[in-house]
Amino acid sequence: MQGSICGVFLYPKTSLLNKRRRAAHWQTIIYTMKCPVCYFQDTKVVDSRVASDGFSIRRRRECLKCGFRFSTYEELEILELTVVKRDGRREPYSRDKMTRGLKRALEKRPITDETFKKLIHLIERDLQVLKKEEVTSDQIGASVMKQLKKVDKVAYIRYASVYQSFKDLTEFKKELNKLSNNKDKAKE
Ligand SMILES: [Zn+2]
Repeated sequence: MQGSICGVFLYPKTSLLNKRRRAAHWQTIIYTMKCPVCYFQDTKVVDSRVASDGFSIRRRRECLKCGFRFSTYEELEILELTVVKRDGRREPYSRDKMTRGLKRALEKRPITDETFKKLIHLIERDLQVLKKEEVTSDQIGASVMKQLKKVDKVAYIRYASVYQSFKDLTEFKKELNKLSNNKDKAKE
């Protein structure tokens, strides 16, 4: 996985696969996919379809030994990405953490689950194309703001005011003006 921070990983929806196994290469996981009933190794795929969010694939599998049918979901996952914080501390990238920040910014805003999932996906895609094993929290913040701006201007301003820490009110107003000017331009 040298130089790669992304991968695809398969897991049963209700599985309690631990983090270490999740970090393994996706092929390993496919080959060790066991029937949840009899633990037989070989399963055949009876149906595959793209999930409604458009970013994961649902596979219906059948155990070759006992015939039990179950579903797996294949989705894009960022692996082994380290976040360097402003004070220099390092921590593993956490999608949950980013999701929490976004949810706070989007509180009571009209956004569907699907759009929210896409938003997360686009932010992570931005991080993936950096092709680095370490990213700074500022890079993450910039990517969040870039994508959030396209989705919800109010949430964008909320997020920016928390994470970008505007120096003063003038800077904040400037950003607001930029947004409303763009809106006027879009109407013309
Ligand atoms: Zn079985």
